[in-house]
Amino acid sequence: MMQPFVDSAATFRTVLNLEATNGYANRAVIGGLDKYVARWVSQCSPGHDFSVVCPQLKTLLLSPPAYAERSVDARRIWVASVLQELDHVEKGCDIAAQQGESAAQETGVGVIKKPKPGAVAVASLDWPVAGVKGVGQTIAVRLARLGVDCIRDLLYFFPRRFMDFSQRRTVSILETGKEQTIFVNVWEARQVMLGRMKSTEAVLGDETGNVRAVWFNQPWVAKQLKVNAKVALSGRVGEFNYIKVFENPEWEVVDDRELLHTGRMVPVYPLTGGLYPRQVRTMVRSALDVYLGNLPEFLPSPVRQRCGLMELQDAVMQAHYPIDYASQNKARQRLAFDELFLLQLGVLSKKRNWQEEQPGRRFRIEQKNINGFIEALPFKLTSAQLRVIDEICRDLGRDVPMSRLLQGDVGSGKTVVAAVALLEAAANGCQGALMAPTEILAEQHFATLYSLLSAISTGSSRETNIITFKGIMQREISVALLTGSLAAGDKSRIHELLRRGEVDIVVGTHALVQKGVQFAALGLAVVDEQHRFGVLQRSALKQKGYNPHLLVMTATPIPRTLALTLFGDLDISTIDEMPAGRQVIKTRWLKPQDRQRAYNFIRKQAGEGRQSFIICPLIEESESLEAKAAVAEHKRLSSEIFPDLRLGLLHGRMKNADKEAVMHDFKDGALDVLISTSVVEVGIDVPNATVMLVEAADRFGLSQLHQFRGRVGRGENQSYCILLSENPSEYGQERLRAIEELTDGFALAEKDLELRGPGEFFGTRQSGLPDLKMARLSDVRLLELARREAGILFEKDPGLTAVENELLRLEYYRIWHKSIENN
Ligand code: ADP
Ligand code: MG
Repeated sequence: MMQPFVDSAATFRTVLNLEATNGYANRAVIGGLDKYVARWVSQCSPGHDFSVVCPQLKTLLLSPPAYAERSVDARRIWVASVLQELDHVEKGCDIAAQQGESAAQETGVGVIKKPKPGAVAVASLDWPVAGVKGVGQTIAVRLARLGVDCIRDLLYFFPRRFMDFSQRRTVSILETGKEQTIFVNVWEARQVMLGRMKSTEAVLGDETGNVRAVWFNQPWVAKQLKVNAKVALSGRVGEFNYIKVFENPEWEVVDDRELLHTGRMVPVYPLTGGLYPRQVRTMVRSALDVYLGNLPEFLPSPVRQRCGLMELQDAVMQAHYPIDYASQNKARQRLAFDELFLLQLGVLSKKRNWQEEQPGRRFRIEQKNINGFIEALPFKLTSAQLRVIDEICRDLGRDVPMSRLLQGDVGSGKTVVAAVALLEAAANGCQGALMAPTEILAEQHFATLYSLLSAISTGSSRETNIITFKGIMQREISVALLTGSLAAGDKSRIHELLRRGEVDIVVGTHALVQKGVQFAALGLAVVDEQHRFGVLQRSALKQKGYNPHLLVMTATPIPRTLALTLFGDLDISTIDEMPAGRQVIKTRWLKPQDRQRAYNFIRKQAGEGRQSFIICPLIEESESLEAKAAVAEHKRLSSEIFPDLRLGLLHGRMKNADKEAVMHDFKDGALDVLISTSVVEVGIDVPNATVMLVEAADRFGLSQLHQFRGRVGRGENQSYCILLSENPSEYGQERLRAIEELTDGFALAEKDLELRGPGEFFGTRQSGLPDLKMARLSDVRLLELARREAGILFEKDPGLTAVENELLRLEYYRIWHKSIENN
């Protein structure tokens, strides 16, 4: 009987690993690898045509020369490549087994479809980096830690900065204090003790004079510097006893090869344990020498010309070994453009897909109804709220499904805007769903909707988690809450009602749409606090024959550039105004010695019936350490500081039900102080809480601190935010000053971005989008250029199927495919 394919792949892998261990001597199997490969191919191809799953593997296995005829180097590359392809095949089998054939197509983003297997070039660029000269298995493992797996990754492994050693001098005109390069002969080099360190000292010179060089703690350099050898030295020149001396200079032997470490702009690469600067420079250089020519120019030339961009191969070369800063900058521009352009193609494609693959439901918007609702509210909407309601209603009135982001600072009143949209859905005979990231937030939204709708209805009746309102429109409207902790019976009841179309608005967690809950007619989905979810899986929202309108809400204000980059697929509405009379939360950064004052203040507030939050320090290494710290802090505060108060504890390691219970107690006023890790950050509304104390506040980002602060000041009592910090870095101090001074979430977000950079600010990794290595969020012009070009391209060739866009499509697929796989 034939073995299942995956099993035989495992055997094959064992053989290959053995071959590697044996130093590629072609002794892993009796009779040699060529025979084994032939047998393996014939055995497993009839039932499992792996040439479809992985054409690369087939090509790799069957192309000459035979293994026996290859050099050891070539064998190493071949073995490493086959191992990697086997990996792909096995993963492919797993996915196919789990999800059936459609899986492969799902990974294509939007309207741009995955290229056919045969179209994927068998580029050596995808081969493991271990094949590069000077790399090998051990170093490959270290490179993998830096995200470098294949040869292409190494070509795209860009330096963090450069050392400018391009100033060449003779010894006589060396200037102290500057970075310079000299070409000299070695006169003498020896090991010496400098302080307690074994070091190297050398005397070197050219026709204009001699100079001393020392390498602290590097005794081996003495052996490498052969007397009379010609070397280049680069570094800062100091002076000691009136003699010029290079301290720890970069150096290399001068022969007919190109200089890599001296005499030019020298790249400084990110490193990890077991990788050294010289080694990485050499490896990158040899990858460039051998493989750069294989890198295809995928940008269509009209785009390149219109935008004045460097050619790809030049750009990659100049990004590593630039001739000067100007060309390095041009190279960066080109590579940054690529990232932004591909990103924009992706998000635009997603949007087009959403909006064009199926129509939406065109709602008939009755301004009269909306006005009636707005007028019945117990407060007056801000003009910003009115404006965004207008923007949303205009979208809802079209048969193109809405794709919109609603952003507004904490407390700016997004829920009521969502409520208007949800009512419009109901008025049009459709269902609306409001999704929150946690149960407690879902419950809160449910409560908010209840109070808003109660205000405008003539009466309501309640049956556990379903409330029916009368008098809002001609018929009754029912609103349901669906959460995981509901009794199974109640849950299936709501499922049933949703399926029959007897619930108009449902509030719940994300599981609401993920678990195949069926709607009779979902017309609008509102998703709150989207960044908690990463990228929304829109496909889960699709209905038969149409796509619902989509409104995403976020309280993390996003600066325009970032919004365009990450949410280019969403139109943006912004509530940039707070309801009148909102109090300003008094924010104070206290010195460590003022801690007792902070505690006294909390006690005083508790005496007046108010409640406080205490946020424990952020511990990035692990949630469990963070939880431990919170537990310890809770214990300390309970026994030493507030034995007379009622203290609660909340951290990420608690069971959901326990978390929810504690939050409920706090909301109900059964606790005076809530000690929590950062899990409390999002959206929770406790009007009676007036103090937010943040420990080690310098560890949190500005946006996060702003979110914490937004947890208080939600009732009528003056509220306070107290920041404690033991010993903040300069940069931490800057953030603490910023949060003390700025109350506007947008201003803070801009500041945060400026201080931290986009990766940390939003975590593109988390968001499921491709990494940005070269692009900066300050590249506004470039971003707009990329957006424009992506738009132009889409107008002409939405599927990128034209011949001249073939390479672009491959690159597009490669980039998005990777980021989707990683999710
Ligand atoms: P967020 O934008 O943070 O989600 P919410 O929608 O939860 O804010 O609104 C916060 C509170 O402000 C709610 O209690 C809501 O009823 C109230 N609110 C909303 N809009 C206004 C307004 N225009 N005037 C006064 N209060 C408002
Ligand atoms: Mg909210």
